[in-house]
Amino acid sequence: MAGDGRLRHGAALKFFWGPMDCGKSTMALQMNYNHARQGRRGLVLTRIDRSLGPQITTRIGLAHEAIEVTDDLDLCELVRSRLADGLRIDYLICDEACFYTVRHVEQMAELVDCYDIDVFAFGLATDFRSCLFPAAQRLLELADEVTRIQVEVLCWCGRQGLLNARVVDGAVVREGEQVVIGDTVDEAEVRYQVLCRQHYRSGDLGVRVR
Ligand SMILES: [Zn+2]
Repeated sequence: MAGDGRLRHGAALKFFWGPMDCGKSTMALQMNYNHARQGRRGLVLTRIDRSLGPQITTRIGLAHEAIEVTDDLDLCELVRSRLADGLRIDYLICDEACFYTVRHVEQMAELVDCYDIDVFAFGLATDFRSCLFPAAQRLLELADEVTRIQVEVLCWCGRQGLLNARVVDGAVVREGEQVVIGDTVDEAEVRYQVLCRQHYRSGDLGVRVR
């Protein structure tokens, strides 16, 4: 529970961000594995996973059950109830954190500061308009550490992929709802394609190689 304000173990809020397909969920599960192997106990959370179920799935085929984060889920309440059940919680893995609410990010900070629980958040920074997601902005403001995930995702031109373009009927769209479920496969009605800044700005999707 909340202590006297002195530094204890020095838990941290860390935000790992990168474009789509850069391996964020894979890294989230690897992080969970690494910590669990050291005997630490954690909770794994996600929101709007591509599987549309309460689990984290990755493009390279890994899966792990996860707690679905809804608008009215209070992360501190969640932790308190688990602690009350006698469980130990050392860390939280928060995948798809860009889709959480700003309030959830405040709760992450409270868990770090008052409960000495590490929180590792993974997500996109910017949406299809190249604007920060509100939760990503709050994470950038509050996190102890911000890390750009270094798994290379390339634009079709070979430059480093930076932005997540939404593609409808073969064209980049720049207006609409901030969150629309899509995929990164060619056949999807709404799909997303990672582009470099230059080609995001020009809307040039290149020649799709199959
Ligand atoms: Zn490019």
